[in-house]
Amino acid sequence: MIAPREAIPVAVLGATGAVGQTFIKLLHGHPWFRLAEVAASERSAGRRYGEATRPIFGDLAPEALDLPVLPCDPALVRSPIVFSALDAAVALDVEPAFARAGRTVLSNASAFRMEEDVPLVIAEVNPDHLDLLDRQRRVRGWSGAIVTNGNCSAIVIALALAPLHRAFGVRRLFVSTMQAVSGAGYPGVPSLDILGNVVPFIPREEEKVREETRKFLGELSGDRITPAPIEASVHTNRVPVEHGHTACMSVGFASSASPDEVRAAFCAWQGDPDARSLPSAPSRVLVVHDAADRPQPKRDADAGRGMTVTVGRIRSDEMLDVRLVASGHNTIRGAAGASMLNAELMVARGLLP
Ligand code: NAP
Repeated sequence: MIAPREAIPVAVLGATGAVGQTFIKLLHGHPWFRLAEVAASERSAGRRYGEATRPIFGDLAPEALDLPVLPCDPALVRSPIVFSALDAAVALDVEPAFARAGRTVLSNASAFRMEEDVPLVIAEVNPDHLDLLDRQRRVRGWSGAIVTNGNCSAIVIALALAPLHRAFGVRRLFVSTMQAVSGAGYPGVPSLDILGNVVPFIPREEEKVREETRKFLGELSGDRITPAPIEASVHTNRVPVEHGHTACMSVGFASSASPDEVRAAFCAWQGDPDARSLPSAPSRVLVVHDAADRPQPKRDADAGRGMTVTVGRIRSDEMLDVRLVASGHNTIRGAAGASMLNAELMVARGLLP
C-alpha cells in the first residue's frame, strides 16, 4: 500500500448539503487528505462556509468554517482530488469540466454511474473496475477522471449480496427498502409528508438499485463490464427514519444454499484485501447480527463509524432460497464514506498523485 508522504489537498463540491457536510466531517483529522476548498451553488458562493451552511449533523469542522465557498468552477477550485456531492443535473456539466481540467472527481451523483467507461466502485467489492479508467481517458481525452460510487441503497444491497454472489451466484432478487429521510438531502422531504407516514415512491430509485447492483457485481473483461445476470424486483420506500437504509431481501441462487451456508459465506467474506487497511475501512465491512429483531437503523447505522453493513434475519424462503435484512448508513457507507474509501484505494494503488 502506498501512503502519501504529505496530506493531499482536496475539494468538496456541494459542500453545504447533506452529503457535502458528511464529507467535511469525515475529512476532519483524515491522515491522507486535507480539506482545502469548498464549493456550492451561486446562492452560497462568496460567503464563509460557516455562514453559508446550516449544520445538519452537529457542529461543522472548525477548519471548514472560514473557508470561502467557491463556485463549482475548475478555474477557481484547484485541488487535484475533488469529492462531488452535487445533484445529478448539476454534475452532468460540472464533473466533466473538472475531469477535463485534470482533476480526479469522486462522484456521488447518478449522472455518470451507468456510463460504460465510468467505474462504479465499492472498494471492497469491485476495485478491479477502476481499470475502466484507461478506456475513459482514451475515449474522452480527459487528463483527469470521474469515478463514481453508487446509489445509497444499491451500495448496501450490493455489499450484502457480494459474498453470496461469489459463493452461490445470485440469480433472482426481491428487495423492498425502507430509506431514511437524510437520503433525500437537505431540506429534503417536507415534514408533513413523512412524519407518521411511509411514501412508497422515490423517483428513479428502483431503476438505480436494479441497474447499479448488476454493474457492481458484474465481471470486468477487457475494458467492459458484463452486468451480473440478476433478475430483480425492487420496491423503494421513504420512511420516517433519520439515517440508515434498510433492505428486506429474498434471494435465489444458481446453486441453492441453506441459511447456514449463507451465514457462513457472510462470516468468511472480508472484501478485497487492498481495501481492508485503508484509513476509512471499518474493521468488519459486513457484520451478521443474530438477534431476531436486528438490524435496525437506529441501533446499527453507526456500526464501524457508519461504514459497516449489518445483516440479519437469515432464514429460508418458500419462493427463492433465503430471506435476509441488510442495513447501512446512507450518507456515510452509501455516499461520502464510500467515495473517501475509493479515493484512498486509488492513492494506495498509485492512481492518484
Ligand atoms: P443536498 O443536501 O440537496 O445538497 C446539494 C448540494 O448541491 C448543496 O451543497 C447545494 O449548494 C449544491 N448545489 C445545488 N445546486 C447547485 C448548482 N447549480 N451549482 C453548484 N452547486 C449546487 O443533496 P445531498 O443529499 O447532499 O445529495 C448530493 C448528491 O449525492 C446527489 O446527487 C444525491 O443523489 C447523491 N447521494 C445522496 C445520498 C444521501 O444519503 N443523501 C446518498 C448517495 C448519493 P447550495 O447549498 O449552495 O444550494
